[in-house]
Amino acid sequence: MISRFAPSTTGEAHPGTLLSALLVWLDARSRGGTAIVRLEDLDRTRDVGGAVLIEALDWLGLHFDQTIVQSERAAAHDAALDRLAAAGRLYPCTCSRASRTRLAPDGGRAYDNTCRDAPLPFGGWRELTATALRARLPDERVELVDAGGLDLSQTPALEVGDPIVRRRDGAIAYQLAVVVDDADEAITDIVRGRDIAPSTATQVMLQRLLDLPTPRYRHHFLLLERARGDKLAKLHGSLPWRELITRYTGAELRDRLAHIAGLADSRIASFDWARVRSDDVSIEGLL
Ligand code: GLU
Ligand code: ZN
Repeated sequence: MISRFAPSTTGEAHPGTLLSALLVWLDARSRGGTAIVRLEDLDRTRDVGGAVLIEALDWLGLHFDQTIVQSERAAAHDAALDRLAAAGRLYPCTCSRASRTRLAPDGGRAYDNTCRDAPLPFGGWRELTATALRARLPDERVELVDAGGLDLSQTPALEVGDPIVRRRDGAIAYQLAVVVDDADEAITDIVRGRDIAPSTATQVMLQRLLDLPTPRYRHHFLLLERARGDKLAKLHGSLPWRELITRYTGAELRDRLAHIAGLADSRIASFDWARVRSDDVSIEGLL
């Protein structure tokens, strides 16, 4: 059993990120598995480095077996683009965001596969240095229920649209990088926040196109905070790690997060998914 915690390196460690790390780590350790950290730093425009995340994991006493830096895996990502191109699945897309008005299951804008028939240049996709590339997915339904019973079934090509696999600025897109890296790291189990659940069917379809295995998935509850308009949203702004360390020791916060999750404490022996809450929860008054 090999699992991973895959935070984006776009900011400080927030309680929601630390909760995810704790659940990944407890799940892997309680099953005698391996747990790796993958720093997802492909978005160069927002990257602040992974050092603060690693520091926060150490502070919590969550020791992982290996750290992988996604930006160092460009050769593997490019090879996947080559394979998609060779299979006739890669195409350039010049549509603007404004042209997309239909809502996708993840709350973003769906893409109507408008450019599907656009050809790649004769010299290949590398010649397109300032154009987004998408992968043409089969118009098939993915039937999938995750380990927590969450139904992730979807026809991603139609409900969300073909995914961008390389961004206009040249960065490999999340959907492709995550699939390639999970396979290369032989990940068998993926535990992550429920906000990513609507992307799973797209990732499974990319796995099928690239002939890669599908890991077991489990999506956990989210920590919410009150955002603009008093709406509860995924934790973003409040309580960064620098604020947390003034309120708690690492061991205290680790137990606090375990309590919020429904566990007695954060010891490996106390871990049981059956006790972990399934509903999202506001951190107000809890942290
Ligand atoms: N890097 C993604 C995020 O922090 C998570 C990727 C994943 O777990 O699949 O939202
Ligand atoms: Zn397009």
